[in-house]
Amino acid sequence: MTRIYDVIKKKRDGGTLSEGEIRRIVEDYTNDIIPDYQMSALLMAICIRGMNSEETYYLTDAMVRSGDIIDLSRFGTRSADKHSTGGVGDKTTMIVAPLAAELGCRVAKMSGRGLGHTGGTIDKLESIPGYRTMITSEQFLEQVEKIGVCVMGANTSIAPADKKIYALRDVTGTVESIPLIASSIMSKKLAAGSDTIVLDVTVGSGAFMKDIDCARLLAAAMVDIGKAFGKRVSAVLTDMDQPLGRQIGNASEMQEAIDLLRGNDAGLDDLRQVSLTLAAQMAANVHGIGADEAFAQAERAWRSGAAYERFLTWMQAQGGDISVFTDPDKRRHAPHIRDIIASEDGYLQKVDAERIGGAAMLLGAGRQTKDDAIDLLAGICMHKKVGMPVRRGDVLATMQTSDPTRFAAAETYYRQALTVGDTVPVPRAHILDIIT
Ligand code: URA
Repeated sequence: MTRIYDVIKKKRDGGTLSEGEIRRIVEDYTNDIIPDYQMSALLMAICIRGMNSEETYYLTDAMVRSGDIIDLSRFGTRSADKHSTGGVGDKTTMIVAPLAAELGCRVAKMSGRGLGHTGGTIDKLESIPGYRTMITSEQFLEQVEKIGVCVMGANTSIAPADKKIYALRDVTGTVESIPLIASSIMSKKLAAGSDTIVLDVTVGSGAFMKDIDCARLLAAAMVDIGKAFGKRVSAVLTDMDQPLGRQIGNASEMQEAIDLLRGNDAGLDDLRQVSLTLAAQMAANVHGIGADEAFAQAERAWRSGAAYERFLTWMQAQGGDISVFTDPDKRRHAPHIRDIIASEDGYLQKVDAERIGGAAMLLGAGRQTKDDAIDLLAGICMHKKVGMPVRRGDVLATMQTSDPTRFAAAETYYRQALTVGDTVPVPRAHILDIIT
């Protein structure tokens, strides 16, 4: 008989939890048998003492088994998913999913909404009139079968134990633990059923992992879990020391993703490179080919417009009308627009990406709590990115919102995110490492 009290003390004293203890606790907590205060104590002990790879595996497995596991066996080894550990301006799914489908992957993807400074793919997709994020499992699978790609809102029956534990971690200071983060993310990805999983582990001021060493540890932990479950997994460490691309906001990020898919990558080197690399990793895993060959294929699919065509087919299949992004006469903007003007000369040396995400949130583009409504047209366009020269009077960024009373606070927040100096900063690579 497993007593939670004994398990807490065991972990507190640096012990190793057994498979049976971990399974019992996950099951009992999910079924409301273990109270929050005891689970919090255990999570804190895990945060401090850590977990070895077996414990992490059992925890992940118990959370996977707490709910449904999507059966993608009809796609054989072609099913492929991607996951980002979060960032600001991250609209890669919109580009990677059709690219990977074009390369022969079957992309059956469930995504979530944004909270805090990071955006969510489902919010971005909901900025497309008519796009259906909630569809049945049958419709989901049929669409993947027919056109190779479907992105829907995450199902509540996927890893419910993680949902409950993550909500508790969020309010008890127990998010920051590599085994807990790795098992949480991987439980959802494993339950979502794809054979290939490509992880975009972001690093920098807008990411969970602020430094590369921690990011490497997290990436390795997730890759190890995935391999233990017989999946083909790779992790791409990408720079999130500044927002990805130039747009932060739901509709504006969608616009940027569509522009890139249509071949316009001016000023979007980072977004293009990260997206092509992620899609290439998916194809490399699915087809067992080298990363360079897969990248070349991804680049061809992008340049030829084939990925854009696939994107259009995907949008149509889910009811989305993208003419608001492609027809200049139908373009939507928030009713209030204001520039942020530079007050000094120099080079933009550094930005705090989390703060920039925070400024967009203050304009209405994000949620402070999960029940907040969001303004899909609100956001910020960055005209100056790190390394660019800045002259007094230049437009640093343009804000838009439906509520002009939000401008002042957002502008202050945005300005505080910038460091302007005399010297040109050393540029950071967009792809920092790939762990397979
Ligand atoms: N995202 C998750 O899904 N889980 C974590 O623990 C952290 C980030």
